[in-house]
Amino acid sequence: MLKKFFLAVVLQILFVSSNVTAEPNIVEMPLPFSDYRDELTRQYTMNHYGFSTSTIDPRAVVVHWTAGSTWESAYNIFYDDLLWDGEVNVSSQFIVDRDGTIYRLMPETKLARHAIGYNWCAIGIENVGGVNGVEDLTAEQLQANIELIRYLHEKYPTIEYVFGHYQQVEARASGLYIELVPDYFAGKPDPGPIFMQALQDELSADGLKFFPA
Ligand SMILES: [Zn+2]
Repeated sequence: MLKKFFLAVVLQILFVSSNVTAEPNIVEMPLPFSDYRDELTRQYTMNHYGFSTSTIDPRAVVVHWTAGSTWESAYNIFYDDLLWDGEVNVSSQFIVDRDGTIYRLMPETKLARHAIGYNWCAIGIENVGGVNGVEDLTAEQLQANIELIRYLHEKYPTIEYVFGHYQQVEARASGLYIELVPDYFAGKPDPGPIFMQALQDELSADGLKFFPA
């Protein structure tokens, strides 16, 4: 009887571990997140969402492109605490370089300002490229995004939606959009329908929800 029980436990462990997606190779490149930036983040969430927080329980992944040609140029834009508008600077939890290298800039559950209306619940993935609006993201970036999103979905089963920044209006159907400041909106083209369709083709079988590319 006991033997049978242990066998069942061992089989369970083997079964579960074989189903877990390994963490993709991620290079740690943390932004210096000062207490001041944390306070600015809390002010931002109070102004825009009506509650004060600097952390998230991830419910969505928003995919972007940087409109720049190097990961360093995006990193440098994200570096300072303050943006020109007097609120916390923009940032993203991840940047994926053109060769598929994944950089983690912030803890996944730290709030990043990357998508109006969704920052309180969305992890951001920036992809280097899209200069002048050209849909030029690479096959390596696609593969890295697939692995990264799969890994995040397993780690945070609360993640339900994946959408591109350009789909921010359609994504309001998710019920996740919150914005208290009237007319606070900026239209976005990133990362384009080709990339989002390719992500959807690979990931919708994982139970993640997409919007028409
Ligand atoms: Zn974007």
